[in-house]
Amino acid sequence: MGIPALDYTPVDDIPTIAKRLRTTFNTHKTRPIDFRLAQLRKLYWSVKDHEAELLEANKLDLGRGTFEASLVEIDWATNDIVFVCKKLAKWMKDEKAPDIPFANSLVSPRIRKDPLGCVLVIGAYNFPVNLTLGPFIGAIAAGNTAVMKPSENAPNVAVVLQKIVESALDPSCFAVVQGAVAETSKLLDEKWDKIFYTGSASVGTIIAKKAAETLTPVTLELGGRNPAIITKNADIRLAARRLLWGKTLNAGQVCISQNYTLIDREVLPVFVEEMKTALKSFYPNGVKTSPDFGRIVNNKQWTRLKKLLDASKGQILIGGSTDEKELYIEPTVLQVDSIHDSLITEESFGPLMPLLPVTDLSHAIRLATEVHPTPLGLYPFGTKPETDRVLRELRSGGASVNDAFTHGTIPTLAFGGVGDSGQGAYRGKASFDCFSHRRSITSTPGWMERLLDVRYPPYEGKLAKL
Ligand code: NAD
Repeated sequence: MGIPALDYTPVDDIPTIAKRLRTTFNTHKTRPIDFRLAQLRKLYWSVKDHEAELLEANKLDLGRGTFEASLVEIDWATNDIVFVCKKLAKWMKDEKAPDIPFANSLVSPRIRKDPLGCVLVIGAYNFPVNLTLGPFIGAIAAGNTAVMKPSENAPNVAVVLQKIVESALDPSCFAVVQGAVAETSKLLDEKWDKIFYTGSASVGTIIAKKAAETLTPVTLELGGRNPAIITKNADIRLAARRLLWGKTLNAGQVCISQNYTLIDREVLPVFVEEMKTALKSFYPNGVKTSPDFGRIVNNKQWTRLKKLLDASKGQILIGGSTDEKELYIEPTVLQVDSIHDSLITEESFGPLMPLLPVTDLSHAIRLATEVHPTPLGLYPFGTKPETDRVLRELRSGGASVNDAFTHGTIPTLAFGGVGDSGQGAYRGKASFDCFSHRRSITSTPGWMERLLDVRYPPYEGKLAKL
């Protein structure tokens, strides 16, 4: 089929694009529900029309197989559009304000969901369709004009996303800007009504600082360093299978994968055996040749992971092989002896699984707090009282009990970080809310003037009458 090479948008064109979209927003074209629904439906069919190209692009960029790409990228986006279209009329309705005293209710307090204006969506490479189209769908649904900046690190998907948008959506309202640092920096020089960013915390900091200069609100979906915790009472076979899945999907390039596992030392040997069994059952003919195991996105990321692995003082228990030419890293389980190991201090964002033995749950909670008080995800395995204790005593953006990142696979469940793993949330209704302004409105009837007389000066003697 052949996907053309990615062309970066000329930097000098960027102010003109931003101006075009802002001018359109000011005409109110994007406000009516019929316009929003028509755009969303066109987007749906455009994704469908480009399905084969999206599959090919996912394969080229991430070595991702058809099953995974269909499920987590394409179906995710189309199902999201269908869901949003079904719910949009309900979400857009004015809400009666709650808890209003009778006297105030006479002015009909209500909340209107206004679009924010002209917004910018910056995507990441690891789920390049889902993480870019997802917020973009929210922006359209909420009545904004929007620019999409796909990740240049998934260049084939970026090209297809541009075709999808440009062949379907109204160009006066929606645009794709392609590029890397120079182009994104130019975008950040423009005034936006919201910036929605998915990516690393270091770049998130750049975005937030730049946005602060113009008091632009941001939603930041940032990085992980997420702990899994396994107590001696956990179902060890189940923990091994589920955590292996959590680190082999997209070759571990998942922001909500467990970055490290704190495991009761008593059950460590049996856990490692169960991991070996699980690996064999997932990839009966070997991992490297399996169509179900992806590759690291590019040489830069592969080299970073290799350095991280080499710097670790951990003992390799399973795996450890790598192949630079193929950008392959074998799922690798290591036993490390400190939270200061490179595999715990850094977010690996790859199929590396450090296990740190602990004496008990209190020890695990203490260490997890020290590593990162506000990770993006948290994965406790154990009895209900144990997992309840973990949820109570450790903070995180989201959590899956007795599982790897299931909370992040529910398309209609709000998703976001806390502290330095992110701010704001999206998905399902949260995507609509994320790009809407909840505008409080009252309407005061003329007949109330007599009642309102009390608020006008002179006030002498009025206090006693209230
Ligand atoms: P990244 O930060 O390198 O890039 C993300 C986006 O930022 C890209 O579109 C890129 O062009 C842009 N960018 C890069 N450098 C920039 C700069 N100096 N100025 C302005 N823009 C710049 O992130 P990535 O490598 O694509 O993704 C990996 C990171 O993202 C990991 O930390 C991962 O945990 C995180 N992530 C988080 C989520 C989430 O939902 N919380 C999802 C996926 C990935």
